[in-house]
Amino acid sequence: MIVMKFGGTSVEDAKAINRLAEIVKGRRDRKPVVVVSAMAKVTDALVAMSNAAANGALPEALKQLRQLRQRHLTVLGDLVSGKREAEGRAEIQQQFENLQDVLRGIASLGELSPRTTDNVLSYGEVLSSRIIAAALASRGINAVHVDSRKVIVTDNNFTRAVPQEETTDRFREVVRPLVNADKVPVMGGFIASTPEGITTTLGRGGSDFSAAIVGAALGAKRIEIWTDVSGMMTTDPRLVPDAQRIDAISFDEASELAYFGAKVLHPATLIPAVEKNIPVYVLNSREPSNKGTCIRSQAPKSRNMFRAIAAKKGARVINIRSPRMLMAHGFLRAIFEAFDRHGVTADLVSTSEVSVSVITDSSRDISALLEELRKLGKVEVETGKAIICLVGENVRGRVGMAASVFSVAAGCQVSLHMISQGASEINISFVIEERDVPEVVRALHARFFPAKPESKSGVRETDVVAIPQPTDVEAVEVA
Ligand code: ADP
Ligand code: ASP
Ligand code: MG
Repeated sequence: MIVMKFGGTSVEDAKAINRLAEIVKGRRDRKPVVVVSAMAKVTDALVAMSNAAANGALPEALKQLRQLRQRHLTVLGDLVSGKREAEGRAEIQQQFENLQDVLRGIASLGELSPRTTDNVLSYGEVLSSRIIAAALASRGINAVHVDSRKVIVTDNNFTRAVPQEETTDRFREVVRPLVNADKVPVMGGFIASTPEGITTTLGRGGSDFSAAIVGAALGAKRIEIWTDVSGMMTTDPRLVPDAQRIDAISFDEASELAYFGAKVLHPATLIPAVEKNIPVYVLNSREPSNKGTCIRSQAPKSRNMFRAIAAKKGARVINIRSPRMLMAHGFLRAIFEAFDRHGVTADLVSTSEVSVSVITDSSRDISALLEELRKLGKVEVETGKAIICLVGENVRGRVGMAASVFSVAAGCQVSLHMISQGASEINISFVIEERDVPEVVRALHARFFPAKPESKSGVRETDVVAIPQPTDVEAVEVA
């Protein structure tokens, strides 16, 4: 069996869902399980609605709710008719009534907890998965809706919940029999629940992660991530329009890229895939014949110095200075124990005789951590930074690469805040001001990925080295 995940833009309207149906039809004999995101921009709208309700603007929240309900009803009406449409309409109306009650509850409390946030955000995937299951069923596909919250079990770390072992058993009990009976389960990505049945989410962009969880739980032969670009590219194509498609990339390289900002994959996606050694394909739902990118345990070395460049905005530098650090061991341990206690991850670290600089994501409140760090030394926090990360297996053991990277950055006349030739040995990273990202990424891309003439197919490829076809890869996979 295979897993096919369709992201927000791949399910954004009836036209996109019709394309999805054709793609799924083409894979019917491979026993697909379909995982879908909320329709494009729906999760953002739900975030806005819940914030409005919490901030005393309930009428605005309810106005947005009515618009969202209309959008879902219209898409349903464009896709199915008769009894299916009537049932779908009733279901959508019911879901929006429930959502309205939740928003009223938020408004009367004037408070939005992470648990309630997850409840509100879950509606996007609950609705899209039901509509898409109905659309597939009406196109002759034996589709059945499966509520992901009944099978993906997580801890209660709301807004970034972590899947638990029990998930595999639930998949064996609930989803495996459906696949064996040649049914096509359709599930919402991103959403899950605690063992007690309280709704959780896996973090923004988490539907990719859901697809990998499904794939690992069922021992899929491959996991397909269908999105709006033709695979993983040498950098974000929104930043550099002539970014080139990567034919094949290793799990390690793709994980680094996802972690350091390549939005095309949620950073946790590859963990379950690596564990079960399942190849992951990134494919374009608007151009299904494009080969996309194959991510697997090993890929042929890239001809370029690097495989790709990623940029992660929203970084924050925490500088801790203390003369006590000089010659005193145990100082670093005290700092990292504080990070650990507060559950804050360090993306990059650099140390000198008397100071330590740590880069973290700025989306979290870290006031309690800072209070603790102040007991260890003088603390300064700088925000508005970005991490630029160049990734590739070729970095391993190569001298002089950092120099060529920094000469490009120097050419842009930007100041570098921190430099690290990664502990993972396959990346070189540095920190710059967020506003400098486009210029620096474009300059690096032009230097390390010089434009190539278009191939006969009109597709640019970075790896011209022959790679095994998907079937060769799958021959060694366990079904
Ligand atoms: P989906 O809704 O399908 O999950 P996302 O918007 O989450 O899609 O991810 C796809 C987007 O990721 C692309 O449109 C692209 O702008 C962005 N992106 C960032 N870095 C890369 C990269 N290296 N390769 C491909 N896409 C990238
Ligand atoms: N709908 C969720 C989000 O927008 C999850 C996803 O699309 O992957 O973050
Ligand atoms: Mg995504």
